[in-house]
Amino acid sequence: MIRTGAQYLDGIRDGREVWIDGERVKDVASHKAFAPIVAVKARMYDMQHEAAHQDALTYTESGERHSVYNQPPRTQEDWHRKWRSVDALLHEIGGVVTRVGDETVGEMWSLQDGRDVLAEIDPRFAANIDNHIARVVERDPFHVSANTDPKGDRSKHITQRDPDMMVHVVKETSAGIIIRGAKYETAAAYADQAFLKPTVGAWSDEKESDYALGCIVKMGAEGVKHICRDGFAGRGNPADYPLANRFDEVDTLVVFDNVLIPWEDVFFYRHTRAAQHIRATLHRYSAFPYVLRLLYNADMMIGAALFNAKQTGLEKLQAVQEKLADLACYREGIRAHLVASIALAEKSPAGLLMPNQSLLYAGRVLACSQLPAMMHAARELIGGQICVTPNAAAFQAEGSSEWLKKFYSLNDNWQSEDRRKLLAFSRDLLNSDYAGHRLAFVQFAQAPHFNHLAAVYRNFDFSGPLDFVRRAADMSDKVMG
Ligand SMILES: Cc1cc2nc3c(=O)[nH]c(=O)nc-3n(C[C@H](O)[C@H](O)[C@H](O)COP(=O)(O)OP(=O)(O)OC[C@H]3O[C@@H](n4cnc5c(N)ncnc54)[C@H](O)[C@@H]3O)c2cc1C
Repeated sequence: MIRTGAQYLDGIRDGREVWIDGERVKDVASHKAFAPIVAVKARMYDMQHEAAHQDALTYTESGERHSVYNQPPRTQEDWHRKWRSVDALLHEIGGVVTRVGDETVGEMWSLQDGRDVLAEIDPRFAANIDNHIARVVERDPFHVSANTDPKGDRSKHITQRDPDMMVHVVKETSAGIIIRGAKYETAAAYADQAFLKPTVGAWSDEKESDYALGCIVKMGAEGVKHICRDGFAGRGNPADYPLANRFDEVDTLVVFDNVLIPWEDVFFYRHTRAAQHIRATLHRYSAFPYVLRLLYNADMMIGAALFNAKQTGLEKLQAVQEKLADLACYREGIRAHLVASIALAEKSPAGLLMPNQSLLYAGRVLACSQLPAMMHAARELIGGQICVTPNAAAFQAEGSSEWLKKFYSLNDNWQSEDRRKLLAFSRDLLNSDYAGHRLAFVQFAQAPHFNHLAAVYRNFDFSGPLDFVRRAADMSDKVMG
């Protein structure tokens, strides 16, 4: 089934407890901090029903129509179709959103790859992951990711910290398990459910096994409390902050105050090896949509920088062209990793098609680690006017507007209003509070940099370089041992 926007809105109007700016939110869908991003998600659902977008966003199986985003990938075409559906969405909404479901649902496919590990403890749990993957396809919920606990002082063993610093099981009942703790989750306040699993860590200490827990949590369940950071939407005039006002994906500290997780929603529990498995493989699918978003981010930087160079006539300078070429290399580097990861895709243990792991994770490091430098390159190309340009009201007000029209009109093609719009867009992309937040999002939201590098280390085949050097240096076979 594919849901409509109205069905999605009905689903999040479930009486959930959401707090922002010290106030309890009555209706997430209409609150100024959430309304724009909720509207994007609702639009995404509606697009699935429209003739113009249905082919890009949906597929049919056994006579039923489903979302391409939720489809477990089995062929290279499946991955290309996912790419096309993201392309259709981002062009439709005119910006970049990351956490809208497709980028988190793949975390469950990773767990399914480890179903043998799950079955070691209790075969029921292995069946639960299969059921949930099927349920996402059938019911089309908005699914987010819950990894990161507040954690507390890590110089102390968890037994010496407040146990709630990491999500754990406090009680087992016939209905399910009761959990306590908290997680940081983008988009949780307006999502349907989250896949909760242990945070980044070694997960080798048996004593921590109460914390080795993986399950689905309904975002409106009793005891779930969403305490959100303040929003960017509604803070300033949309004419001055066009991205912040449309695409802010509000992050939440989700508190679990004795939340019942029914047995059918439990994937693993007191299972350190399952925690190890999921931490080692979590992003084997979901890194693809995450990195793909950065391709569009790169396009926004290139477009903004090139339009600016065209306006000012600076594009004809070779030195300016070289800086634009640096941005294009970054963009093409991301695209190359994505294309190659599909071309050399690998079969997963559960029979799905994983993007080539070494190439995908290397692409994630390239895309995320180079972003600060590329943002600075774009900022430098566009120049200081993004910081010093007056706001839209000044372009309208009698007394200032005549001067601004004069100084911001460059030629017949570029009149002051278009130049103002380009500078406002560029500021929100590169310089504003929202721009800084998005940079932090890219650096952390899926995992921190050291974890990205650990994924490359685990997946790159080091035997090739070792063997090459062994032969080149004429060393014995034994050194490979
Ligand atoms: C905008 C944003 C959105 C987010 N969205 C989500 C989400 O949707 N779901 C979710 O679960 N989480 C989310 N997160 C949380 C994110 O996953 C964490 O911020 C991240 O895992 C790092 O955890 P931490 O912030 O507690 O930092 P810490 O664990 O305190 O680490 C801080 C820094 O210390 C260093 N460090 C720590 N441990 C090591 C180590 N073992 N080796 C090397 N260096 C180390 C690194 O420099 C690291 O960046 C989001 C974060 C941000 C900023």
